[in-house]
Amino acid sequence: MKTDYRTKNCRAKWDNSADTCLPLRGQKPRAWRLVLFGAPGVGKGTQAEFLKQRLDICHLSTGDLFRAAASQNGSSQSPAMAEAMGYMRRGELVPDSTVWQMVRERGDCLQCAAGFLLDGFPRTVPQAEQLQAYMEGEGLALDGVLDYEIPMAEIIARLSGRRVCEKCKAVFHITWRPSSTEGICDDCGGRLYQREDDQPKSIVTRLEVYRHSTAPLVEYYKEQGLLLSLDATGSPEDIFARTMHSLQARSESLSKQPAGERV
Ligand code: AMP
Repeated sequence: MKTDYRTKNCRAKWDNSADTCLPLRGQKPRAWRLVLFGAPGVGKGTQAEFLKQRLDICHLSTGDLFRAAASQNGSSQSPAMAEAMGYMRRGELVPDSTVWQMVRERGDCLQCAAGFLLDGFPRTVPQAEQLQAYMEGEGLALDGVLDYEIPMAEIIARLSGRRVCEKCKAVFHITWRPSSTEGICDDCGGRLYQREDDQPKSIVTRLEVYRHSTAPLVEYYKEQGLLLSLDATGSPEDIFARTMHSLQARSESLSKQPAGERV
């Protein structure tokens, strides 16, 4: 039977459910504090789902937060959020101040005793610096940054064929993971749609944006000894096996490191 370390997920809090993040029950072997890193379409979302299940940690995706905000009716959006939607639709990065404000509002996730998984954040060096300053202030440290790497041509093929369920958010692909009935989700019967930022024009912009703004983060985290580079080709299960292998090695090296020496 799975040990109940923490009964609820922080994520549910911003999904407007009544669930909250509760203190740990029992001793968890390791509360991982991780960042998922890699170009759009590299498969971070799928790995995040696997990791969330396996490690029982909070998953905070800034892209999901923005999409949740986009689905709200316009009058309930703050001016900053309404402006952020424009950036998102064009495939550009939302300004750092808006992103940080949104992440900061989910401080419970960053402090969750079960650990967390940041997905799509940080995306720029200033965002990484804000996160680091915040964590240091709270006496916390990142355990690793999982950097998924894949050739650009494969990314374009993955993104342009991606379809998402508008109800349960399950992800399909027209070539590699087609639904049994075209346009209908196998899991819940919801309608499948192509994300606006998965249109070819937005994809090119997003990859350019990634190259310019986000790739320097690889160096940033490499210098801090936090970068865990992973080959993201192959099936999601293969990639996940590589991920767990890398985390196992990381766990062993962290347990040999005195706590005061952690970044
Ligand atoms: P994603 O699903 O992570 O690819 O995010 C979708 C879109 O949300 C991005 O193309 C950006 O417009 C916006 N976004 C998400 N996270 C961030 C971030 N950390 N910084 C700036 N913009 C972001």
